[in-house]
Amino acid sequence: LRTVSAQSQPEERLSDEELRPNTLDSFVGQPLLKEQLRLFLDAAIKREVPPDHILLAGPPGLGKTTLAMIVAHELGVSLRVTSGPAVQHPGDLASILSSMEEGEVLFIDEIHRLPHTAEEMLYIAMEDFRVDVVIGKGAGASSIPLTLPRFTVVGATTREGMLPAPLRARFGFTANLDYYPASELQKLIQRSAQVLGVSIDDQAARELSLRSRGTPRIANRLLRRVRDWAVVHELDHIDESAVKAALQLYQIDSEGLDRLDIAVLEAMVKRFKGRPVGIKNLASMVGEEAETIETVCEPYLVRQGFMIRTPKGRVATEKAWKHLGVALPNPSQG
Ligand code: ATP
Repeated sequence: LRTVSAQSQPEERLSDEELRPNTLDSFVGQPLLKEQLRLFLDAAIKREVPPDHILLAGPPGLGKTTLAMIVAHELGVSLRVTSGPAVQHPGDLASILSSMEEGEVLFIDEIHRLPHTAEEMLYIAMEDFRVDVVIGKGAGASSIPLTLPRFTVVGATTREGMLPAPLRARFGFTANLDYYPASELQKLIQRSAQVLGVSIDDQAARELSLRSRGTPRIANRLLRRVRDWAVVHELDHIDESAVKAALQLYQIDSEGLDRLDIAVLEAMVKRFKGRPVGIKNLASMVGEEAETIETVCEPYLVRQGFMIRTPKGRVATEKAWKHLGVALPNPSQG
C-alpha cells in the first residue's frame, strides 16, 4: 500500500525515489535530529531489540518519508507503508498489523487522519503488541486476540497538534522537522545534481536554494525544471542566469513564491482589501483545499512576513502589498 501526498506530481514521485538518500549519513542537514536518531537506532541495534516507535512531525516535503525509509535501512529490516486516509476501516489496519514480522518498520503517513476506531486499535498494538481480529459478520461475529511480534511504528504527521494525546504518548521518540536553511538546501541541491548527472555552480545552487522555501522536495523539483532548461538550451553547465531564466518561466519569483502563494496574497489584498479573512473563504477564493493553504502556503507566507494570523482571520502585511506592487490604502480615507 503506497500513498503519496497531494503535493507531489507523478514524475516527481519517480525521481523522489532516485534522489532519496538511504542512509543517515547521506541525509542532508538537520544535524541535531540526525545525531538523536543515530543514538536511538544504535542503542536498539546494540540491545538487539526493535527501537521504540518514532513520530516525525513537520510540514510536507521535509523528509519524513525519507527518514522512515532510512530507519528501516539502517536497521536492516523491511518497511511497510500505509497512511491515515488509506485505512478506511479498523479491519484494514488489523490486516496490516497481523501480517507484520518481527523487527519490521510500519510507516504510517498522515497518521493524524486515521479513523478513530483504527487509532484505538493502534494504541493497543503499539503498547501491548496485540490486535483483536474480527471473524465473521453481524451477530455471529467473534473476535480473536492475536499476539503480534515486536515491530516499530514510524508515524508521520503535518499536524502534530491534531494527534490525540494517548497516541502521541506511545511514541518513544518524536522528531520535529523544521524548514532547512538555504546553506543546507544548497548542499542538498549539489548532491541531487550529482545524482542526476548535471553540473551546477555554487551561485546557481545558492540562487535555487533561496527560492526553495526551505523545503527539499521543492529544491529537487526546481532543480529538475532548471535541468530541463539546460537540456533544451544545450547548456552543459547550470549557472545563475539559467536558474533565473528557468524559474521566471515557471513563475517562481525571487522570494520563492509560486502562483498559488501569489493568488492567496492577491485575494487578501485585492478582493478583501486588507480585511481579515478566514481560511475557508481564502481557499474557495483561490480554488484550493483549505488544508493545502494551511499546510503549504500559509506557513511559508507567515514565516516570510507576507501575512499574519489574527483572531479575526488572516491579514496581508505591508510587505505583501509592496511585493504585489499595490499601493496601501490610505488610513485617513478609512
Ligand atoms: P510528505 O509528508 O509530503 O510525503 P516528506 O516530508 O515525507 O513529505 P520526502 O518524500 O521524504 O518528504 O522528501 C521529499 C524529497 O526530498 C525526496 O526526494 C527526498 O529524497 C528529498 N529529501 C528530503 N529530505 C532530504 C534530506 N535531508 N537530504 C536529501 N534529500 C532529502
